[in-house]
Amino acid sequence: MDSNQFREVGKQMVDYIADYYDNIRQRPVMHNVSPGYLPPLLPDSAPEDPERWEDIFKDIEKVIMPGVTHWRSPRFHGYYAAGGSFPSMLGDMLCNAIGCIGFSWATSPACTELEMVTTDWLGKMLGLPEHFLHSHSGLGGGVIQSTASETVFLCVLAARNRMVARMKETDQDMNDHSVISRFVCYSSDQANSSVHRSGLLAEVRMRKLQSDDNFSLRGETLRKAIKEDKAKGLIPFFVCATLGTTGSCAFDCIKEIGPLCEKEGIWLHIDAAYAGSAFVCPEYRQHLEGVEYAETFSTNPHKWMLCNFDLSVMWIKNREYIVDAFKVDPIYLKHQNEGRVPDYRHWQIPLSRRFRALKLWFVLRCYGVKGIQQYIRTHVSLAEELEALLVKDGRFEMPVPATMALVCFRLKGTNKLSEMLHDHIMARGDIYIIPAYARAQGKDVYFMRVAMVSEHMTSADIEVTFRAIQRSADRVQERYADLPQTEKN
Ligand code: PLP
Repeated sequence: MDSNQFREVGKQMVDYIADYYDNIRQRPVMHNVSPGYLPPLLPDSAPEDPERWEDIFKDIEKVIMPGVTHWRSPRFHGYYAAGGSFPSMLGDMLCNAIGCIGFSWATSPACTELEMVTTDWLGKMLGLPEHFLHSHSGLGGGVIQSTASETVFLCVLAARNRMVARMKETDQDMNDHSVISRFVCYSSDQANSSVHRSGLLAEVRMRKLQSDDNFSLRGETLRKAIKEDKAKGLIPFFVCATLGTTGSCAFDCIKEIGPLCEKEGIWLHIDAAYAGSAFVCPEYRQHLEGVEYAETFSTNPHKWMLCNFDLSVMWIKNREYIVDAFKVDPIYLKHQNEGRVPDYRHWQIPLSRRFRALKLWFVLRCYGVKGIQQYIRTHVSLAEELEALLVKDGRFEMPVPATMALVCFRLKGTNKLSEMLHDHIMARGDIYIIPAYARAQGKDVYFMRVAMVSEHMTSADIEVTFRAIQRSADRVQERYADLPQTEKN
């Protein structure tokens, strides 16, 4: 493909994408295929000869779209928002065009320096402490990672390393392996699965602590766990607190957890993958009280800040714990300005990295702080509208009040009834929602969660979602009228 053809078909693709967005409400949100649907639609091996673009283009609708779940649809309410916007797509387009691999400053200074500027902009927008900014005189700064999962894994490794180094200060001959086998980390039982997985990958114990009735991890619970574990000879070294849990958007109490971590020399990481974006609105910043105790903080603009995947930002108070701890510096990666600016390869697990700051820069400039605040506030008020409709119906209950842009609800009665409601909704396929379980007041409570995902959702879309839930509830109640209405103890 030469640049002339690229101009032509590129415009066709932009039109296709714009139409996709304009007409997305007409597509069923759920794919309509079974496992193995795709291979029969394609040849067994790659074509020997070049194919015509027109033929390839036609296959998008024929082969790909039937197997797509439309995450951009206002009928999609699963998981959390998969961020995206036209300015972000343009940023990715330019990133792909430039195609630099910014593992060091020298490989493309703009790639590193725009990342420093935009992570500082974002840190300021969210009201994070100054020690997380590159522009501050300390050792802190922000970096774009692929995912929040990768960040938490990196932080566990850094914290493990820091604890080993500290212990070595008093015992030079210490056997690292036998000491690490006594290491223990903590998170709440509501933390994202990636936190538990980081413990597995780093080969350290990860204890899930019971959250309170609001699904929040409290200082007292952590204090008791640390005491118990120390009495057993274990060594607490890492806590992952969540601001906006995956299940119900609960907030761990970092103002209680932070001082404890400081006292015990424990690394506090804050995972604000979803809800972190809301701190752009000052009215949500009460949840940040205690953030100054965190060594690291991460949030995903690729969730709720209009950036396309992948764009997860991690801020660190003291970069040396990551940058120096895992340094491998062969001659072919060195450059003359080393030490004067970050070489971001030292701040992450992979070597190579894309110019992702472009899309963050485009988004922050195209929307401005006010535009992003408005986007967040609109989603929050749409969640409140849905919650009000569900309450008014009378058949539903909320295990927790709508929080940020997430509504959690269930049919009054047994878990089984709500499970059947979810099955019915998903079988109909006109909206997409996912279930969650939480332990509340000694019981496992099954509920469904409705996240506001699409950038362009309106009250009319909320009405459609609500009617779909109502219709399914009617059918489930008719069909299963004989089922017990209360849980057996
Ligand atoms: N942390 C929380 C609270 C989440 O809700 C999620 C995903 O929804 C993650 C971490 C994982 O994020 P990522 O896919 O960026 O690893």
